Amino acid sequence: MSVIGLLDVRPRVRLGHLPTPVEPMDNLARRLAGHGGAPRLLVKRDDCTGIGFGGNKVRQLEFYLGDALAAGADTVLITGAVQSNFVRTCAAMAARLGLACHAQLEERVPRNDPLYRGGGNVLLDRIAGATIHSYPEGEDEAGADRALEALADRLRAEGRRPYVIHLGTDHPPLGALGYVAMADELLGQLAATGTIVDRIFLASGSAATHTGTLWGLRALGSAIPVVGICVRRAAALQAARVRAGLDRISALLGHDPGFAADDVRVDDAVLAPGYGRLNAATREAIALAGATEGLFVDPVYSGRVLAALVAAVRDGSVAAGESVLFVHTGGQPALFAYGDDVLATG
Ligand SMILES: *Cc1c(COP(=O)(O)O)cnc(C)c1O
Repeated sequence: MSVIGLLDVRPRVRLGHLPTPVEPMDNLARRLAGHGGAPRLLVKRDDCTGIGFGGNKVRQLEFYLGDALAAGADTVLITGAVQSNFVRTCAAMAARLGLACHAQLEERVPRNDPLYRGGGNVLLDRIAGATIHSYPEGEDEAGADRALEALADRLRAEGRRPYVIHLGTDHPPLGALGYVAMADELLGQLAATGTIVDRIFLASGSAATHTGTLWGLRALGSAIPVVGICVRRAAALQAARVRAGLDRISALLGHDPGFAADDVRVDDAVLAPGYGRLNAATREAIALAGATEGLFVDPVYSGRVLAALVAAVRDGSVAAGESVLFVHTGGQPALFAYGDDVLATG
């Protein structure tokens, strides 16, 4: 069975607007060009996956919610940061499927202003009808999952049929399957247009996007390097998480594509001062993408990845003539929770 055949037997709800476009960022490339000329910059528009304002969680939730429906669930439980895109997308997709959604928001970012607490994604969670809960820790995946399980027990006692989407790595990586499928979609697009990509830049958080993409590319015979930009953990920790995640996909699908020693690439140069907190490079990347391409990137994930790409072009580690694809994972609703803080100040 082909790798994509392995996915086809998995329950999936097809709610995403797929395939997403691959577009050039020529204006940005020209703006960044050095004396040797410009690199070729492309963007995979996974911010345009459609439902619930789109983003990378749509592909991931197609498999989680497919599994939930197959299990006969009537309620989904999810946990994430206060401004979580995963929670917002889940709330929207659950509403579309007629499922109730309980969202547990974790204290991951030290911010207390009303915009952060109630604007952006939180506003959208409410509009989609999610029931909001809170969890006092932000760096305790196992604890957050246990709290969801406890909530699921209470709902079960009330006669509901809950389905828990776990954060922790001791559960099958269903979300990563969405990015195994994305790898196939992307390779098809590149082949159809004769486009060469020398390197891919994407965000590495839970690493479902990173591991799914890398696993899918290698399983499909592509050796394109994938650079995961750390948005939450330092590089050594994140690399270990990615390696373990690749093994978990192999175990889930019963197939090991085989990875080279240098396949797992992570870069945490733009991570400071930490998850969900802006830095000057990310502010500049948000402004550059907006002003050169009319492209909006977010303060937590895609803006950080673009900041890393801009730095790599400037320091010459992406050379003139090289072709780099940036996976835009969405997240723009968070712009409205950060407000003026996203504007570059020079
Ligand atoms: C969650 C998220 C990411 C990180 O994706 P993972 O699969 O969790 O690593 C990147 N960008 C956006 C906008 C996200 O919401």
